[in-house]
Amino acid sequence: MTETLMSYEEALGSYDPALGLEVHVELNTNSKMFCGCPTEFGAEPNTQVCPTCLGLPGAMPVVNGKAVESAIRIGLALNCEIAEWCRFARKNYFYPDMPKNFQTSQYDEPIAFDGWMDVVVEGPDGEPETFRVEIERAHMEEDTGKSLHVGGSTGRIHGADHSLVDYNRAGIPLIEIVTRPIRGAGGRAPEIAKAYVAQLRDLIVALGVSDARMDQGSIRADVNLSLAPAGSDVLGTRTETKNVNSLRSVERAVRYEVQRHAAILSSGRSILQETRHWHEDTGITTSGREKSDAEDYRYFPEPDLVPVAPSREWVEELRGTLPENPTARRARLQAEWGFSDLDMRDTVGAGALGLVEETVAAGAAPQAARKWWLGELARRANEAGVDLVDLSITPADVARVQALVDDKTVNDKLARQVIEGVLAGEGTPDEVVASRGLAVVSDEDALSAAVDKAIADNPDVADKIRDGKVAAAGALIGAVMKEMRGQADAGRVRELVLEKLS
Ligand SMILES: [Zn+2]
Repeated sequence: MTETLMSYEEALGSYDPALGLEVHVELNTNSKMFCGCPTEFGAEPNTQVCPTCLGLPGAMPVVNGKAVESAIRIGLALNCEIAEWCRFARKNYFYPDMPKNFQTSQYDEPIAFDGWMDVVVEGPDGEPETFRVEIERAHMEEDTGKSLHVGGSTGRIHGADHSLVDYNRAGIPLIEIVTRPIRGAGGRAPEIAKAYVAQLRDLIVALGVSDARMDQGSIRADVNLSLAPAGSDVLGTRTETKNVNSLRSVERAVRYEVQRHAAILSSGRSILQETRHWHEDTGITTSGREKSDAEDYRYFPEPDLVPVAPSREWVEELRGTLPENPTARRARLQAEWGFSDLDMRDTVGAGALGLVEETVAAGAAPQAARKWWLGELARRANEAGVDLVDLSITPADVARVQALVDDKTVNDKLARQVIEGVLAGEGTPDEVVASRGLAVVSDEDALSAAVDKAIADNPDVADKIRDGKVAAAGALIGAVMKEMRGQADAGRVRELVLEKLS
């Protein structure tokens, strides 16, 4: 079913969007949240399970201390208060991949609350601007297992013959980070949502508490959106788009929901409060399940676990282990790299700050690193519908490509082919240069012969250059580059052309 959409600009003329973001972070602890089972990704199904994470009667959970430590560090990095005493709660609902029929989570006593994060976005005048996102809470919980629907064409339950359940993921520690409603974002709501998730992911990476791979589900974002009539204080009815698994999808999903809500509201109908599914391929959301505010999960304090009461000394000790504050880090890197405010904003906005940093650490000049990540690689990521970090090329590879350009092994155009080869899994940049035969021809005799041939083939152009019309050299350089299949240093070719015709 195709939904009617209102144009984005028209929607913003009549409505103010309010955003809410819920981000689940899968921690990289060695064992699960409440048992000693291993947590490795990609193991054979149901090989990392025990009576506790399978929810067998009589099994007793024990809290993973390392997970509590990670939760506190995330909370502190988000400028949250850390609870002096809090409990786990049972969230009761039925799900085939949740064997206990309740999820051990936290309800009214989260480990961290009342924080904020400043994100950098484009201001109304085009200059970078800081926008504060308030964090309501960050709480600890456990992941569910995974269902695999077999026999259908889509992998969804509809049309499947049967379903299989893998409980390896059941009980993996999660931190859920929930924002307060984000208002006043206006037309920048999609950009702010993306910038928030991008910076949150950078922070999680810097903390070293998760693999932080959106494509593998170790960071998952749910996007809440509602519209209110422009100028109104009242929040509209919201929808919750689940498991949006890339930064660019976060941005697209917000934009799509703004347009969809506006079309419904302007026709006099009302928004159904529900969860929605995001479809990466078609760029639309579809209806999930209806969800009321008063959903009754029959939460109650978990009787099998002792409360968590982190001492103030421990909290302060953990505060001392935090990475550099993101705002300070951005300012430091900008100064070190000599980037303009706009260069910096674009780098952060593209989710490329860490990538550029690592590429520079691997030896590339900052502007060269930025050029590759925000140019050629951003274009390829966009084409493939993935985020930059999920491209199969490392910062070290990118630095090596630039080094090959710097020492004139390849020119810019060939460097793009090297990148294409690395992304296609053909090996390291050097291996791609060798296997594809991409190195620039530095054999002066071969170059000289190609230049002579171009001059002989284009006598009119050669005469113009002899008469002093140096600008005409471009045609001869082009002919030589074509003859050499692009594998020549254009600067050297130009020198040779002018030498021979002077
Ligand atoms: Zn277990």
